[in-house]
Amino acid sequence: MNQQVIDLDRTLRARATRVIPGGMWGHQNAPRLPEGYPQYFSRAEGCRTWDANGREYIDFICGWGPMILGYNDADVEAAAADQRKRGDAMNGPSERLVELAELVVETVPHADWAMFSKNGTDATTACITIARSGTGRRKVLVARGAYHGAIPWCTPSVAGVTEEDRAHLIHYDYNDLASLETAVEQAKGDLAAILVSAFKHDLGKEHVLPNSAFARRARELADEADAALIVDDVRAGFRLDLGGSWELVGVRPDLAAWSKAIANGHALAAVTGNNRFREGATRIFTTGSFWTSSVSMAAAIATIRKLRDTGAIAHMKAMGQRFRDGLEAQAKRHGLAIRQSGPVQMPVVLFDDDADRRIGNAFCQEALARGVYLHPAHTMFLSAAHQQADIDTALAATDEAMAAVARR
Ligand code: PMP
Repeated sequence: MNQQVIDLDRTLRARATRVIPGGMWGHQNAPRLPEGYPQYFSRAEGCRTWDANGREYIDFICGWGPMILGYNDADVEAAAADQRKRGDAMNGPSERLVELAELVVETVPHADWAMFSKNGTDATTACITIARSGTGRRKVLVARGAYHGAIPWCTPSVAGVTEEDRAHLIHYDYNDLASLETAVEQAKGDLAAILVSAFKHDLGKEHVLPNSAFARRARELADEADAALIVDDVRAGFRLDLGGSWELVGVRPDLAAWSKAIANGHALAAVTGNNRFREGATRIFTTGSFWTSSVSMAAAIATIRKLRDTGAIAHMKAMGQRFRDGLEAQAKRHGLAIRQSGPVQMPVVLFDDDADRRIGNAFCQEALARGVYLHPAHTMFLSAAHQQADIDTALAATDEAMAAVARR
């Protein structure tokens, strides 16, 4: 590789440490990934990304979820470009707002209305605020270890956070009926909401779908207490079911938070809700300088229509299954014990006896060196742009990566 090119990522990191605290914030900070992962990217197209040094990867992170139809999707970008010519951040919304809300209400069975913002955290936070506004109560039940965003009530870090920020959260264990019932008991008389992830997708842990007894009981408990059932569909939204992830277990929430994939990479988040919470949603004051921007809404309309009309979810499932089957066979062949979990289109691959993630990191580094961008602990993402040939090229690389790990 060209030495001058190698230096670009390094040079940018050095410059960043002078003008950005810690060089980079949050989970996109490359030092949180195994050594050798790039920090900077220059380009993305379809299911491929190029880092700042010009190295090409088949991408199984998809921008951490937003990219669902493929980077630079022609239909989505045409809709966005068309809207950009007319106007984006104006004094108020354009027609696109109403069109998008209508499309979302038509697509998502529990939704009688929708509101829009920018990030997943905006949406999860708004769900809680609306639940409190609608019920006049304070307590919110949250699963231990679940991620709902990065502001004081929910960030995984304690830096800068006060006890008061989390004063009204009560924890339960996902898929554990007894712990949910105990938490409801503790909230007695003051329960505003039960917040659940679409499925259990905690970092570094096996991913587990909601079991239907748990989902049904969560619905019942919320109803008995006249509280809101909220599904955080920020990560999984539109990858499992266009109507919302809990359609898979036949349980409909009162409120749901969406972001990541809804506009194929354009900045947008949504809250959907039913008529029970319309009043509560009407009463809160919420806004943001860019929350009515029209380009991302035009992109979302094009994304949702294309997901609906092209059978994208079935395709992602088929590709995800092909990838999973391939990895399973390779691990066996190389004598490595792996555990693959999560929906096939949102996989996580963990190695046995790997508490310090030494093996998982090594596997990802070996794959990265062969042009496949994986993550050793976080949910990965398939997209509709991953074709059979891409999966097979990726599998050829992971086969060599597993062989290299087995040799170590
Ligand atoms: N909820 C879930 C389940 C998420 O995965 C994320 C983002 N990883 C969020 C909320 C927060 O979304 P954002 O980073 O866009 O604020």
